[in-house]
Amino acid sequence: MINCSFHDLVLLLDRKLDLDKQLEVLEHLDRCSICRDAVYQITRDRKTGTSHTFPIFAA
Ligand SMILES: [Zn+2]
Repeated sequence: MINCSFHDLVLLLDRKLDLDKQLEVLEHLDRCSICRDAVYQITRDRKTGTSHTFPIFAA
């Protein structure tokens, strides 16, 4: 995964990716602070039950 894919991040958190894709996304997360922040934000939003709006995604 060269480009950031927030859709893939959501699928990863939902455990809807196959193993190959999972590793690909995790590898990207390792290198990409934007996606790490996004995962943090998604996780936090889900815990607090707020709506699924991701201001960071608009960038
Ligand atoms: Zn990224």
